[in-house]
Amino acid sequence: MPSRGDPARVDGAATPPAAPGAKAATPGTVTAGRRNAARHALVQQVRAFRLPLFCLGLATVFGALTVDDLLAGRQQLWRRTTETARQLSLLISQDIDHAVTRLDRALRHAAERQAAPELAAMPPALRQAFLFDQALAEEDVRLVFLLDARGDIISASGALPPGQTGMGYLRSHGRHGWGGLWFSPPQPGPEAREVVALSRGLHPADDRFAGAVVALLDLDSLRRRLEAHLQVADGGFTLGLYRHDGVALLGAAWPGPAAGQEAGIASIFRQAALQPNGFVTSGTAQDGRLLHGFAWVGGWPLLVSVSGSAAEMEAEWRARAIVTGLTTLGLLGALLTPILLLQREVMRRHAAEQEARRNSDEFRLLAENSGDMVSRIGPDRIRRYVSPASRRILGREPEELIGRSPREITHPDDKQQMLDTVGPVYAGEVEEATTAYRICRDDGTWVWLEARVRSVRDPATGLPDGIVAIARDVTERKRLEAEIAQLVTEDPLTGLANRRAFDAGFERELHRCAGLRQPVAILLIDVDHFKLFNDHYGHPRGDACLRRVAAVIGTAAAHPVDLAARYGGEEFILLLPGASLAEAERRAEGLREAVEALAIPHLGAGGRHQVVTVSIGLAASVPEPGDVVLAAELLVQQADHCLYEAKRRGRNCVIAAGSAGVVA
Ligand code: GH3
Ligand code: MG
Ligand code: MG
Repeated sequence: MPSRGDPARVDGAATPPAAPGAKAATPGTVTAGRRNAARHALVQQVRAFRLPLFCLGLATVFGALTVDDLLAGRQQLWRRTTETARQLSLLISQDIDHAVTRLDRALRHAAERQAAPELAAMPPALRQAFLFDQALAEEDVRLVFLLDARGDIISASGALPPGQTGMGYLRSHGRHGWGGLWFSPPQPGPEAREVVALSRGLHPADDRFAGAVVALLDLDSLRRRLEAHLQVADGGFTLGLYRHDGVALLGAAWPGPAAGQEAGIASIFRQAALQPNGFVTSGTAQDGRLLHGFAWVGGWPLLVSVSGSAAEMEAEWRARAIVTGLTTLGLLGALLTPILLLQREVMRRHAAEQEARRNSDEFRLLAENSGDMVSRIGPDRIRRYVSPASRRILGREPEELIGRSPREITHPDDKQQMLDTVGPVYAGEVEEATTAYRICRDDGTWVWLEARVRSVRDPATGLPDGIVAIARDVTERKRLEAEIAQLVTEDPLTGLANRRAFDAGFERELHRCAGLRQPVAILLIDVDHFKLFNDHYGHPRGDACLRRVAAVIGTAAAHPVDLAARYGGEEFILLLPGASLAEAERRAEGLREAVEALAIPHLGAGGRHQVVTVSIGLAASVPEPGDVVLAAELLVQQADHCLYEAKRRGRNCVIAAGSAGVVA
């Protein structure tokens, strides 16, 4: 047996309503309840968003790892590149050191041979070879010559460039002191090639200046040879070779503007003052950052630099970073988009379920507290839910009704009418309808229900999904209605139909018989000398007499279609549809005899009968379909005329229209 307040579930309802009779909430429990509800709502929110939050966290971690990896790669690239530049500058400085050392040795050699006594005896070609072959054997050397203390060329391996004199070299060398090896700035050389002059002073035995030996180095050939070293590292490096005072011997094709170039050289020299070999960066992100490896060339006043552009170095890394970044984003997008879409769908459904649950709870609350019986009936016309009001209205438990069709206990006379009304609502053709029908109570009695039924649609598909019916007990109302209907049509004194009911029935039967081409007969019945009866016995006895006569007339209306009515006062009318004049006459005679047989004493009239009698006038005809009103008037007129004739002939007799002596 189910507990009270917990009838069968409404579709989709999950939360049972509070049990009736639960303790009333105090203010304290209300506050605690609100707090709990708020906490519950927060937990729900976090739960609803936990998947996107997890995804966001995952994406952040994944993104951070990728960025960290890319930055580490960039740092490693910097380290590798700067180290390569430093190593290359060291390698090139060693190459130059060896070359300069060898050339210096060859120049010293030439200077020494210059003082050799056998030189004067040598033919010019041999002397040149004797003096300069060792120097000329060195790479990049174009021209070697000897100057005396006055700047005159003593001996040369070839012709000096046009417009240049030995004196020019001598002066230039002299400005930097006579000792050591001197490097000139780049200058035009033989065959219009750019050269740098390396000269070493000649020191005879008494230490006086005795001239210089000069070698011209082809810078183009030197650059090509040195730059071959850079090819091992394809880092887009450029080479620089500077004198200790900053004069560029091998003008590096610097990337970036001249300002950046100068700043770069300055920063190289600043760092080179502190260490023989290393690396340094220059420039800004806007100007273009440069990185330089540098190395001093042995003991010579020469500095080598190998420079690269940070942007160029990072170009590949940048491309890789973009590809990696985009790939990561794409992967995350491809991973997260379906998850987030799924989440959105889940949340939408969740919200719809919540809404449905709320609606369902509200529906149940209303249904279970309503005096009306609320039913939810599925499209299969089987009850899914019935509210507890069924106990009061039908004396049946909701469970007894659920799972069954309402038709099972509907009154047979009302089934068709109910189906006709409710069918279109089930089909969704009509939104709402009202119907009244009788339904069997538990004790076998019939209850009149008036139900308001409403079509229900599936929220997802919009298709009809059964109905909701709200039914109330209208048995009492129906009883009153029937009573009123009776009062309207019944004569209160005799219980026969009144004049109004007779008129309606008369017209209806005339129509029917006109259609069937059947006769209709009427009998006008009047109590004889009734005024005198009243006068003699009093009005109440008169009433009682009328009731008895009426009962006899009522009995005379033997067929279902016959209609007996009080026509007014002590006058009655009997309608006999389908009866011929002869049959009507026979029945009228029977009626007259029956009244007489009542033997109600009537001494007031002092006549020959001494009992209550009636006079009857009757008429019959087959009504014409088109004119029943006229037929009715004519029949009553004829019957009345016959009644008059009956009275005239002495009463207590029957006169039919058309009988001998009766004027129609
Ligand atoms: P006749 O034989 O010519 O019909 O004579 P009569 O006295 O019956 O006819 P009349 O029309 O003169 O009188 C009819 C009487 O019926 C008058 C009235 O007092 C009486 N009557 C009419 N209705 C009622 C009623 O409801 N109760 C009683 N007790 N008498 C009624
Ligand atoms: Mg009368
Ligand atoms: Mg009368």
